[in-house]
This record gives sequence, C-alpha cells and structure tokens, in this order.
Amino acid sequence: MKFIFAVFLAATFITMNAYTQTASELAAMWEKDHISNKFPSDVRHADLKVYLEQLKKLGLKVDEVGRSYANREIYQVEFGRGPMKVFMWSQMHGDEPTATSAAIDMLAYFQTHRDLDWVKKIEETLTIRVVPMLNPDGAEAFQRRSLQGIDINRDAVNLVTPEAQLLKKLRDDWSPDIGFNLHNQQSLTTVGRTTEQATISLLVVYGDAAKTNTEGLERNKRVASAMVEALQRFIPGHIARYDDGYTPSAFGDNFSAWGTPVILVETGALYGVDEMFLVKMNFVAFVTAMNVLATGKEKDISTQAYLSLPPNSSNGLFNFIFRGANIVTLGETANIYKADIAVNTERRRASMSAPNFIRAIGDLKNLTGLETYDASRFYVFQRLGSLKVGELGEFMFYRTDRVIDWRAADLEKAYPPDAIFSGGRWFKGEGVVPRIK
Ligand SMILES: [Zn+2]
Repeated sequence: MKFIFAVFLAATFITMNAYTQTASELAAMWEKDHISNKFPSDVRHADLKVYLEQLKKLGLKVDEVGRSYANREIYQVEFGRGPMKVFMWSQMHGDEPTATSAAIDMLAYFQTHRDLDWVKKIEETLTIRVVPMLNPDGAEAFQRRSLQGIDINRDAVNLVTPEAQLLKKLRDDWSPDIGFNLHNQQSLTTVGRTTEQATISLLVVYGDAAKTNTEGLERNKRVASAMVEALQRFIPGHIARYDDGYTPSAFGDNFSAWGTPVILVETGALYGVDEMFLVKMNFVAFVTAMNVLATGKEKDISTQAYLSLPPNSSNGLFNFIFRGANIVTLGETANIYKADIAVNTERRRASMSAPNFIRAIGDLKNLTGLETYDASRFYVFQRLGSLKVGELGEFMFYRTDRVIDWRAADLEKAYPPDAIFSGGRWFKGEGVVPRIK
C-alpha cells in the first residue's frame, strides 16, 4: 500500500512539473498584483491609455499599431522573446470589456515577475502580442459595433472597417501560432440543460464549415481543457462550450482558416459577483494557457475537459421573476388579473444605472429567475406607465388585504405602497415581498 502511494506521488510529481501554478495560486497572484483598478465596463479609451502607460513604465513594449474610424489609437503590447507566437485581441465588440483588463493584468504580472522561473519560461518560450480594445470607438459609446455601425466580427472578409483591416494585417504580418479571441456573452446565457449561468464559455474555432480538425486545433482543445480545469476550481457548473456554428465572415473562423488556430473566450456573468471577479477568472484562464503552452505541458493534457463541456443554451433564465402577482391595469376601470412577471436588466457600464424591462407576463412556470419572488399576496402596479411587455419593470406592491382606489391622483402618495421595486432593486420594503429563490 505504501509502495503504491509512493509511486502515485512520484507520478504526480512528474506530471506537475516545476512550472505549474495551481489555479488558486494564480487567483492569489491576481488579488495581490493586478493593476486594473476599475470595473472593466467603466474603462474607456483614456483609462486604457493610463494602464498602457503603466505597462510602458514597467518596461513592456507598447506600440500604437493603428487608428479607429474616429482616429482613436489602437495599441499592441508585447511580452516575451520566444519562438511560439501567441496573439490575443479583446473588445472588438465595444461593450465586451472583461478581457481587456485581464490581459493588462496578465502582462503587468509577467513583466514584474520575470525573476520567477515559470514566468522566465514563458518569456523565453513565447512571444505574446495583445491588442487590448480593438474597437475603442465602440468601447467609448459602450456599444457592440464600430462607429460605422459595423460588427467588426463580421468584417473579416469584406474588411470595410479600419479596425478589421488592422486586425487582419497584424495577423498576416506575423502569422501567430495561436490566437485568443476575447469577448463577453449575454449574462443570462445558461449551461447545457441547466438554468445555471455560463460564466465562461470557450470554443476552439474550426476554420471551415466541415469542422476539419488540425494539429493546431487539437492542441487548442488541450489548452482549453487546461483552462477549464483551472476555472472549475472557482466556478464549477458555470463553464460551457460556445456555439460552434461556422460564421464565414467572423474573425475567429478566418484566423483558424488563415493558419492561426483560435480559442474563443466568452465571459458571461455570475449572480452575486462583480466584474472584477470575472477579470480574475479571465486572468486565471489566460495565465494557465500561457503556462501550459510554454512548458509544453499541454501535450500531456487530455482534451476531455473541453470536449465534455455542456453547450451554451438559453433556458429561460431571467433576472427577476415575480410569481402569481395580482396585476392592476387601468382602463375604464381597474382590471386585476393573476400572472407571473419576468424582468431583465439591460447591459450598461457599472457606473450607470441599468434599465430593467418587462420581458414576459403570464404563466411563466417554465422560466427561472436569478431572483424569484412570491407576489401572490400583493397587487402589483406599474409606477410609470402600464404593466406590459416592453415597459420598464418599475413596480409598486400593495398587500391584497388593503383597499386601494387605483384611480386616485398621485397614487403613491395617497396610498403609500408596501414595497417599491425600482432600478432592479428594492427601493422600499426589501423583504416584504417574500423571496423564493
Ligand atoms: Zn463579442
């Protein structure tokens, strides 16, 4: 027995070679040393420049490599001097910012810890080039598309936008061995058949509709597996595989076709954590990938963790569901009926208040809320207009044992509500309407 245990330990030691950092160690490194200091959704082009100045001061190579349609600078940062060429680009969709901060933190970490053996190994084995915020105009407006109104990720063939032209040129001039295409997905994307949020979704992107496998794509599946295993430590059940439909006009698919096999990283959300947690998860995933590429450890990794990821789904997950509400609408007379109400929050910068809209009314038993309330003992009245799909989810709640003249002028003053739900939170009377989930 002792002998078997000793053999097991020895085998473990050989597999976990000298340069392997555990996921927890990577997360602790980020906690201690990250330089990103605001929520990614609040990082504008000017803030990115501040980060890049810091990277320059640390000694990293930061170059302006092009300009956006509105003439904003687009930068590329380089770390390492090794033969394997790693290319990463973020925020080609302006309102998808998480990876920009995470990549900055990764570069800063590597540069300031070049004395560590495992970082030295990365420096000597890889050359990493990162284009953070490829779409600075979109980032400034916090919108997906470029200032021309074009989705840069559907412009890989036509190359109408200066941003797409630049991305193609950076690839063609350098022919990277591997690419990381960094995005954010909808916060209510779910994992497989569950109603759990997909916090990180990965995809090894095929270069054709026939899904022709190549050595590079097979390597990417092993690298993706390493990323999954690292992330599993923190967000088990919240990792999925992004939809692998072939998009002939998209950059990921074309990069793979052009000879730079791509891993797509899509960051979603997780109820109860903020954006910095997502930055940390990105950091853990990126550094893990660099680590296994630099050490060659990826060659010993099975593709299983990646291949067994459940696919991305949308299984009727909503931000808020109010069950069995007694909905009051005003027509000729007050009309009251019982129904569930589902409300979703729009994507906005962290510093801005995000509007909440009614997305469904009726029997919504098949839908799940990140927060679900039992409104069966309450009248629900829309504060600002009418309680209809597409209207704001701004509600006043009254206990059903109260007698209310719904047509009263200034209802809120004449009959103070027991609770008010506004701006996606309980503005008044938190806890009055019982929470189910
Ligand atoms: Zn995107």
